[in-house]
Amino acid sequence: MDKRLSRRINEMSTSATLAMAAKTRELIEQGEDIIGLSLGEPDFTIPEFIKEAGIKAIQDDYHSYPPVDGYSDLKQAIIQKFQRDNNLTYKPSQIVVSTGAKQALSNLTMILLEEGDEVLLPAPYWVSYADQCKLAGGIPKEISTSVEDNFKVTPQALEEAITPRTKLIIYSSPCNPSGSVYSKKELRALADVLVNYPDIIVISDEIYEYINFKGKHTSMAEFEDMYDRTVVVNGVSKAFAMTGWRIGYIGAPEWIARACNKMQGQVTSGANVIAQRAAIAALEASPTAIKYMIDAFKQRRKLISNLLSDIKGFKTNKPEGAFYIFPDISYYFGKTLRGKNINTALDFSMYLLEEAKVATVTGEAFGDPNCIRLSYAASENDIREAIKRIKEVVEE
Ligand code: PMP
Ligand code: GLU
Repeated sequence: MDKRLSRRINEMSTSATLAMAAKTRELIEQGEDIIGLSLGEPDFTIPEFIKEAGIKAIQDDYHSYPPVDGYSDLKQAIIQKFQRDNNLTYKPSQIVVSTGAKQALSNLTMILLEEGDEVLLPAPYWVSYADQCKLAGGIPKEISTSVEDNFKVTPQALEEAITPRTKLIIYSSPCNPSGSVYSKKELRALADVLVNYPDIIVISDEIYEYINFKGKHTSMAEFEDMYDRTVVVNGVSKAFAMTGWRIGYIGAPEWIARACNKMQGQVTSGANVIAQRAAIAALEASPTAIKYMIDAFKQRRKLISNLLSDIKGFKTNKPEGAFYIFPDISYYFGKTLRGKNINTALDFSMYLLEEAKVATVTGEAFGDPNCIRLSYAASENDIREAIKRIKEVVEE
């Protein structure tokens, strides 16, 4: 608590993913041999054709402020992508390009929430949802799930969590951190509950859309009776290995898109112009252009799942998408490892960092205090070595 700072920032938690990434970087700089499985960031380089579009944008002298909600040809590429991949039809006035999906999500909570509004977060949820809600005055309401039900929320649990103050529900599918993917049938069952509460807005975070090992991706917005109150959040960070280029976008009801545009106009203006030009190349390409990365993630999922299943006290589901695995490690609570008491997932994650030199993220940050998150967007060698080290320090 620093009295010089606002209550707003004092009450905000630091992003656990970015904090662990910073700590990993710091330890590596000090010469420690840390394997980072904390950050959700592909280890691939950006496909050549996207880099070339970025280089061309510099050579073509893109330099001035872009439209706040994105270049019109980027919006067209997004519209075509939505039509091609999701069978969703949007007008340019329904699209807003932002500085990452993170800003897109932040815009949404800022424009939709009033003080005291409740936001349903099926847990585990992505780390920034809860703090973004609180920043906007909202109250996050977790709906818990467990490894046994594949970390998916049931229609009954959703119904029970709704109150007259519920304004939003935010979830990701494929899910960060659990890797779970809602099938069309499961989403329809949730939609059947939501249709009875027409004032609740759905924020469907689909940033891992292409990293899906299960089959066809479904968006809540595809249901005709949900389209008018669903905001689809997506971006180029994950599937195109463009995390640092910072381009995300939404497809939304027009009144929501207009408000996001207004918010962004006062906070950042339009997203980086070079990255916007590169994003056009990424989104216009056939998704087959990035299949090699998806295949590699699928292979790594198998590898990490097999290796973890061999460690005592690690309970996992089978992730069906994204590049995370979220083992329940509560077996270790109350135990002492190498003289260190393990009472929480944070204790366990810190123990792995200190003793195994493997960086993970505590499940508390994702609303599940029994788990830790490991990102397998790392090389197979790193995955093998990391899990070997973890096994050594927990089983001895
Ligand atoms: N949503 C989820 C579920 C994520 O994992 C991430 C990861 N950064 C984001 C949104 C934000 O992505 P971006 O890099 O586009 O800001
Ligand atoms: N989304 C990634 C993760 O969850 C990147 C970090 C972040 O933006 O918080 O690790």
